[in-house]
Amino acid sequence: MHLRYSYRIYPTAGQRASLARTFGCARVVYNDALAARKEARKAGRPYPGSADLQKLVITGAKKTAERAWLASVGVDPLIQSLRDLDTAYRNFFDSVSGKRAGRPIGLPRFKSKRDGRQSLRFTRNGFRLRGNGKLNLAKIGDVRVKWSRALPADPSSVTVVLDAAGRYHASFVVDVEPGHLPEVDAEAGIDLGLTTYAVLSDGSVIDNPRFLRKAEKRLKAAQRELSRKAKGSKNRAKARRKVARAHAKVADTRMDWLHKQTTRIIRETQAVYLEDLNVRGLSRGRLAKSVHDAGWSTFRRLLEEKAARYGRTIGIVSRAFPSSQLCSECGHRDGPKPLHVREWACTACGVLHDRDLNAARNILAAGQADRLNAPGGPARPGVAIPRRARPVERGTRLGDLPRTGVCAAGAGGIPVR
Ligand SMILES: [Zn+2]
Repeated sequence: MHLRYSYRIYPTAGQRASLARTFGCARVVYNDALAARKEARKAGRPYPGSADLQKLVITGAKKTAERAWLASVGVDPLIQSLRDLDTAYRNFFDSVSGKRAGRPIGLPRFKSKRDGRQSLRFTRNGFRLRGNGKLNLAKIGDVRVKWSRALPADPSSVTVVLDAAGRYHASFVVDVEPGHLPEVDAEAGIDLGLTTYAVLSDGSVIDNPRFLRKAEKRLKAAQRELSRKAKGSKNRAKARRKVARAHAKVADTRMDWLHKQTTRIIRETQAVYLEDLNVRGLSRGRLAKSVHDAGWSTFRRLLEEKAARYGRTIGIVSRAFPSSQLCSECGHRDGPKPLHVREWACTACGVLHDRDLNAARNILAAGQADRLNAPGGPARPGVAIPRRARPVERGTRLGDLPRTGVCAAGAGGIPVR
C-alpha cells in the first residue's frame, strides 16, 4: 500500500535558487510537451509517444540555443514532469470515457510561473537520504528536513513542493504493509450535519470547529492590507504572502483536527458507514461557507485511507437513501423533513427522534445490510474499500491499486457504492 509522508524542509538560499531554476525547467518541459501534443492533434498526426516526447523536449532541446539551460538542472524531475503530463492526459481520457468517476476532468493546461503551488518529483535515481538526516536531491544538494515523524520504510519517490505561503515540503511515497489494530465489536453510522460536525449512531457528537470563521478576521485584515498596496510593489508581494500564510495556518489547524477525529473513529470502530454527500452540489448554495469549513470530503478521504491502512471497513450509503425520513425504531417512512426540524416524533410508533442521531442509526443499518448482502457474504476487512480509498495524493496514480470496491444493491434495493 502506498502512503504519503510529508515534512517541512528548509533549503538554503542557494538551494532555493537551484530549486527555482528546476521548477522553471520542469514547467518549460511540461509546456513544450503539451504544445507538441496539441500541434500534433491540430495537424492530424498521431500523438507523439513518451519516448519521442522526451527526445524532443529534453534531450534534443538541450542541444538547441533556446533550451540549452535545461542541461543545468537534474534530468530526473524533468522526466517526471513529462510523466505528470501523461497522467493528466490519461485522467482526461478516462474522465471522458466514463472510466474515471467523479467530477469531469478537463484537458491539461499550460503551467504558469504565477501558479501558487510549484512541485518537482524525484524518483530513486534523483534523491537519497543521508545518514545525518538530510535529504540529498540531485543537483540541488543536502536539504535540511524537519522529521516530525519517522518514515516507516524506504521511500520510492519524493515530491518537493513550494506552496503559496512560501513554505517548502518534501512528500515521500512509502510502500507499507497494512497495519493491524486490535479488532473491536463496535460499528458506527455517521451523519454529517451543519449544527454539529457529525453525529455517530452511538449518540456521540463531534462539534463543529469553525476554524475559518475564527481566523476570518485576521484573514480579512490581511486581505484589506493587500488591496491597499500598489500593484507590482514589493509591499504588495509581502502582503500577498501574509494572506497566503494566514490561509495556510487555517488549513493546517483544520487538517490536524480532522486527523485526530478520524484516527479516533477508526481506532474505536471496526466498520464505519457514511452517507455519500454531494459536497460539490451543496457548496454552491447558501451553505457554502459551512460546508467548506467542515471539509467533509477530506474527513471522508482520511477515514477511507485509515480504514485501508488498519484493516477497518468503510461503507458508503447512497445519497438516495432517505436517512432522515425513516424511523430507526420501526422502519416507518415518515416523509421529508425541512432542515430546521431538529426533532420529530414517528407517526407510526410514537418514538421521539433527534434528527441527526436517527439518521446516523439508519445509515448504520443500511450499511450493515449492504455488507451482509454483498456478493460473497460479509465483506472481509480491507475488501470493502470503496473506490476512493486510495491513500495517495489526488491526481497521482501509483501502481495497481483497487479501482472499484463493493458494488451491489443492498437490502430493500438500497444502492450502495
Ligand atoms: Zn417509528
